[in-house]
Amino acid sequence: MLKVKNVTKYYGDFKAVDNLSFSVGKGEIFGLLGVNGAGKTTTFRMIMNLISPTSGEITFNGKKIDYDITDKIGFLTEERSLLTKMTVKEQMLFYGALKSLDEKTILKRLDKLLEKFKISEYKDRKISTLSKGNQQKVQFISAIINEPKLLILDEPFSGLDPINVELFKNIILELKDKGTSIIFSSHRMDHVEFFCEKLVILVKGKCVLDGYLKDIKKNYKIKNIIIEGDVKISDLKMINGVINVVKTSDQYKVSIKNESYCKDVFEYLKTKSNITKFVLLEPSLEEIFLAKVGEVYGR
Ligand code: ATP
Repeated sequence: MLKVKNVTKYYGDFKAVDNLSFSVGKGEIFGLLGVNGAGKTTTFRMIMNLISPTSGEITFNGKKIDYDITDKIGFLTEERSLLTKMTVKEQMLFYGALKSLDEKTILKRLDKLLEKFKISEYKDRKISTLSKGNQQKVQFISAIINEPKLLILDEPFSGLDPINVELFKNIILELKDKGTSIIFSSHRMDHVEFFCEKLVILVKGKCVLDGYLKDIKKNYKIKNIIIEGDVKISDLKMINGVINVVKTSDQYKVSIKNESYCKDVFEYLKTKSNITKFVLLEPSLEEIFLAKVGEVYGR
């Protein structure tokens, strides 16, 4: 298990991470979220032992992180960090050696992974000649060639088409099932909702919300009602407890202060004869994220 305990990081006198604590268990996918500059990369670098916390402690399975442990961590960085003049095979031999693997093991794993990612034919191609999506696959392979026990995925789907997003999703779930602890970071809240049971939201280096996603949603008072039918936005906005109404192509999303106001909306709809849908929904993670970040920035 990864434990980040009361970690603070200063760059000079600027506090980039402020007393952050979280843990990621075996086979768990944990979401580390935040706007640009919130302190995510700084946190990843501290976990990878590339920089040291100013205070606090990071341990993996009870031990402080050292080179032995970083050999067992995989890191898919947001920015591409491939040596593009090398071939795919040369790159993997290089990365694998950095993770203390011997050549035979690297080549055996590489063949399997290239097949899994459906790019076997590119093994001897220079990385610079590959498309953006295929370079992302090579980057992913280099993050897991050491069969990591802890895997950090920072925007893993960038540059991928929907078919390859699906492929990556399945591979990530397979790694989870095998017991890999995964930290997942993305600005795409739908992807975070898909994977993460537990998460933390950082704003200016500080945790503003953390816990299990289902509890976060349950405890968030604002709920949404989805309505299909012939209604008027201006009428909906007049109902007690309604805080916002948004119309999409054929639906209305009515946000209410809390669940108890559902009956007020229902009473209004009883006066209409052509309602085909009425569903009460939890808020999306995107709505919660925007509200939490907005509170700090006063939006
Ligand atoms: P993004 O989503 O844009 O990648 P992030 O959440 O990863 O952002 P960090 O890169 O961790 O954010 O940066 C956190 C803060 O620390 C930012 O204000 C950044 O400018 C600052 N920072 C990062 N690295 C350094 C450094 N080496 N020296 C000084 N300040 C830094």
